[in-house]
Amino acid sequence: MNMITNHLPTAELQALDAAHHMHPFTDANGLAAKGARVITRGKGVWLTDSEGNQIIDGMAGLWCVNVGYGRKSLAEVAARQMEELAYYNTFFQTTHVPAIALAAKIAELAPGDLNHVFFAGSGSEANDTNIRLVRRYWDIKGKPWRKTVIARWNGYHGSTMGGGSLGGMKPIHAHGGKIEGIEHIDQPYWWGEGGDMTEDEFGLARARQLEEKILQIGPDNVAAFIGEPVQGAGGVIIPPRTYWPEIQRICDEYGILLIADEVITGFGRTGNWFGSQTFGIRPHIMTIAKGLSSGYQPIGGSIVCDEVARTVAEGGEFFHGYTYSGHPVAAAVALENLRILQEEHIIEHVRDVAHPYLQERWSALADHPLVGEAKLVGLMGSIALTPNKATRAKFAGEQGTVGFRCRERCFANNLIMRHVGDRMIIAPPLVITPEEIDVLIARARTSLDECY
Ligand code: PLP
Repeated sequence: MNMITNHLPTAELQALDAAHHMHPFTDANGLAAKGARVITRGKGVWLTDSEGNQIIDGMAGLWCVNVGYGRKSLAEVAARQMEELAYYNTFFQTTHVPAIALAAKIAELAPGDLNHVFFAGSGSEANDTNIRLVRRYWDIKGKPWRKTVIARWNGYHGSTMGGGSLGGMKPIHAHGGKIEGIEHIDQPYWWGEGGDMTEDEFGLARARQLEEKILQIGPDNVAAFIGEPVQGAGGVIIPPRTYWPEIQRICDEYGILLIADEVITGFGRTGNWFGSQTFGIRPHIMTIAKGLSSGYQPIGGSIVCDEVARTVAEGGEFFHGYTYSGHPVAAAVALENLRILQEEHIIEHVRDVAHPYLQERWSALADHPLVGEAKLVGLMGSIALTPNKATRAKFAGEQGTVGFRCRERCFANNLIMRHVGDRMIIAPPLVITPEEIDVLIARARTSLDECY
């Protein structure tokens, strides 16, 4: 077989890809018929494909390339660390400097007493850790019956058995089932599900479903509640401002551990280091991944508060961990990524560029005949497509068809935007400039026009 490099013709690469590569979350038949787009390079917010097209990445890869593509210092740190110590584990009473330094840095950045980090290789793995961690916590507290974790329908927490079960996406449950002891409540999606309620009323009503669920299960059987500060993969559902304070009140009142899944919202996405700071949440545990290394290396983890970490330590050995927990190369790269975020004031940049510059241009998309709402927090936004803004109607036929068409038009216009059903979403690299925002908005508008 020829060497497979960027220099092969696109059609040949696509044929090999379809023949041998099983893609995540992809219809393989569609891929065989059409061929995947082959991405070859990245710089800043721009991607190049095998045909030489310049694509603006409105999704930061999968919500992860926060510092933008092509950062030399991240490559240099990785190479240096590989030469010095490519791998060692953090099991059985060994450690190494990258894991120590990264854990200490995360503890410094995280709010409150979130001072301890359990590393994983991804967000899904970290959420699996969380399930075992909260159940172990209650075991040690002498309440082994506190096992149930409450999550939300249309939330996303990964696609391992644990993460996929915490998530509230029925197609994921349908492929392989769901573990026991996970319950779901409705999401705080006011535009789509709020009916006649004001946004504030709806936020309270949806949060109070948590209290109802706790009472139904019995407060003493509930281990934890998990939620994304802003649902990402569910369609960038920005909750009403009344929602999180009420969730916090309920968790406090019933003594339930609160897990904020910050895999997307962590490391600057909402204009603060963590989404919990933007929404006033005080979690016991945060799930992190993606922006922790800006996707340059696979790494995730759970940031754990003093009380939970102390209790789990009192129980002796916690029988849990991954070969790559705290992987030295991934940890060194993540540390350098945090240095870039901090020293280049990228979180301040998110605030400056998002409000009002992107906010004004994003909101203006709501003038388009297809757009019902256009919402944004920091650098994550969504628009809802509808055939009738006044009634917020859904399109006839299969849901998501118009969203898919719109996403295809964006793709053809060299803009990566994702569709979730009939919602279109963006989460560009955090380093996007006002000029690049203009390009993104212009391409989005053209694509909407072509769908109308
Ligand atoms: N949690 C949230 C909120 C996510 O958005 C994701 C991925 O998109 C995950 C968990 C799973 O992370 P990973 O894909 O790294 O396993």
